[in-house]
Amino acid sequence: MNLKDRPCLVVGGGDVACRKINLLRQAGARLTVVATHFDPRLRSLAESREITLVPAEFTPAHLTKQCLVVAATDDAAVNRAVAEAANRAFVPVNVVDKPELCTFVMPSIIDRSPIMVAVSSAGASPVLARLLRARLETLIPAAYGKLAALVGGFRAEVKKRFTTVDARRRFWESVLQGPIAEMMLSGREQQAVAALQAAVEHGLDSSDGMGEVALVGAGPGDPDLLTFRALRLLQRADVIVYDRLVSKEILDLARRDADQIYVGKERDNHSVPQEGINDLLVRLAQQGKRVVRLKGGDPFIFGRGGEEIDTLAQYQVPFQVVPGITAAAGCASYSGIPLTHRDHAQSVVFVTGHLKDGSVDLNWKALVQPQQTVVFYMGLKGLAEICERLMAHGMAATTPLALVEQGTTTRQRVHLGTLADMPQKVATVDIKPPTLIIVGDVVRLHEKLAWFQPLATGPQ
Ligand code: SAH
Repeated sequence: MNLKDRPCLVVGGGDVACRKINLLRQAGARLTVVATHFDPRLRSLAESREITLVPAEFTPAHLTKQCLVVAATDDAAVNRAVAEAANRAFVPVNVVDKPELCTFVMPSIIDRSPIMVAVSSAGASPVLARLLRARLETLIPAAYGKLAALVGGFRAEVKKRFTTVDARRRFWESVLQGPIAEMMLSGREQQAVAALQAAVEHGLDSSDGMGEVALVGAGPGDPDLLTFRALRLLQRADVIVYDRLVSKEILDLARRDADQIYVGKERDNHSVPQEGINDLLVRLAQQGKRVVRLKGGDPFIFGRGGEEIDTLAQYQVPFQVVPGITAAAGCASYSGIPLTHRDHAQSVVFVTGHLKDGSVDLNWKALVQPQQTVVFYMGLKGLAEICERLMAHGMAATTPLALVEQGTTTRQRVHLGTLADMPQKVATVDIKPPTLIIVGDVVRLHEKLAWFQPLATGPQ
C-alpha cells in the first residue's frame, strides 16, 4: 500500500505503538496518534511536528478520513472496539498480535528500495518471521536497490531496442547474472552504467567474453568472519584459487561445482611462484571464468594482493578487491588483547618478521617506541632474533609477548612470555602455523579479557 503522505491512525501511545509508528513513518505516512498516555519519544516527534497527538479515548469518529488504522493499546477491549469500528467504516485495520482481528498484516521487511521483500507468519510467529528476515538480509546485497534502479533507468530504452518480450527477458537475464550486475553490487557504478549503455546499443554478444577476478580476503580462519560479499562471490564463482592459509571450512562454502585450484604458499616453499599465480588469474579470466582469488586475512596486508591485481589491470581483466579481517585483528580479538588501549598503547604497527637472507631486516628504532603495540606476521622462525633486536634497541626485557597459534580457529592457543624468555619457551612446545606475535603492554590484558576458549579437540 502506498502510504506516502497519506493519513494513518495509530491507537495507543506505548512501546508497541512506537514500533508500529516507526514503520509507518518509514513508509512516509502522515500519522495521527490517539491515546490517553504518550511515550516521551512520541511527544518529541510531535514537538518537531512529525506526528500529531490526540490525547483522548478512542471513538469511531477518529477513523474519519484515515486510510488505515493500527490498534496498539494494551487494553484488549479497546483494541477490539477499534477493529469493529474500522470494519464498519471499511478502513483496513491491524491489531497488534491479534491476527483474527486484522484485515491486513504488517510483515517484516527487507528494504532494498525499490526492491522490497516482506516476510509474514500471519501472526503465528513474528519472531520466526524476524529471524528469517535476518537471514534474507545477509543474502541480499545491500546494493540490490541500486541495481534495480539502474535497470529501471534503462527499461524504456531496452524496450525500444528489443521488440519481443523474449528478447528483452534474455537480455535482462544476462545483464542481471553477469558482470554488469556484479559491477553495480561491488560499487563500480560508473563502469556498470557505461557497460549497460554499451550493451543496449551494441548488444551483449559484442563483449569479448572476458571473465572477472575478485581478490577476496577470507579472514584469519573462523568462517563466521567472512564478509557477506565474500560469501556471495564464493557462491557464484566458477573457479577458486586459494592458498594454504584458507581453511577448509571456508572452501566448503563455495559453489559445489566450482573448480578449486591450490596454489600453496608455505614458508620457504612457494608451491606456485607469484608470477605463475598472476598469469593463472589472467588466463582463467580470459577464458570467461568468474574467478575468486581467495587469500587468508586481508588481501592488502602482507598478501601480495597488489601485485596480483597489477597484472590483472595490465591485461584489462575486470577485478574487485574484498577486504577481510586481517590476522592481527582476528588474533587480537580472539585472544582478548586489544591492540590499542587508552592506558597502554596509542599506536599499533604491523610488520613482517619474515627472514630475508637469514635475518630479520626492520627499522628497529621505530618499533621500540613507548606506548606502542607491535604485531609481527610471519615471525615464528625469526622469534629469537626479533626479541634480541628489540631488547638491543632499548625495549625492556620484561615486555610481555603473546604468540597466537592458529588464531580464531578451534585450535587456537595463546602462548605468553617476555622478550627475555619467549624464544626458550617456544622451543619446548610443538607449535603449528600460522602464528602471530603481539608485543607490548596490552598483552597483559589477556589474562582478564580472554573470552574465546575452544574445547581442545585432541592432537592435530
Ligand atoms: N594477508 C594475511 C597475512 C598473510 S602473511 C592477513 O591479512 O592476515 C601470513 C601470516 O599471517 C602468517 O605467517 C601469520 O603470521 C599470520 N596469520 C594468518 N592467519 C593467522 C592465524 N589464523 N593465526 C595466526 N596468525 C595468522
